[in-house]
Amino acid sequence: MGGTNCPTCGTQLMDGGKIAGRRDPGAQDVSICRGCAEILVLTRSAQGLTLRPTSATEYLELPEDAQSLLRVAHLLVRRQQRLVRAPRQLH
Ligand SMILES: [Zn+2]
Repeated sequence: MGGTNCPTCGTQLMDGGKIAGRRDPGAQDVSICRGCAEILVLTRSAQGLTLRPTSATEYLELPEDAQSLLRVAHLLVRRQQRLVRAPRQLH
């Protein structure tokens, strides 16, 4: 298991040179797991990329347009997966 798996559900998010839909994530970027809809922080360091769940505080510090994009993506993944698990509270 590399550093590009979702830390929550283990889904491999590296896909054709993209990671969680981002071709070239910056030093820090935010994306969403297509497996469990977890909102993830992508951090690039000397060790490579690491993924970790976004805290509610970090989410709220994102620009408003990024928040609404993530909210829509989150709902779409949830709808697709029809997970029975209770959604994580974002706010
Ligand atoms: Zn996941």
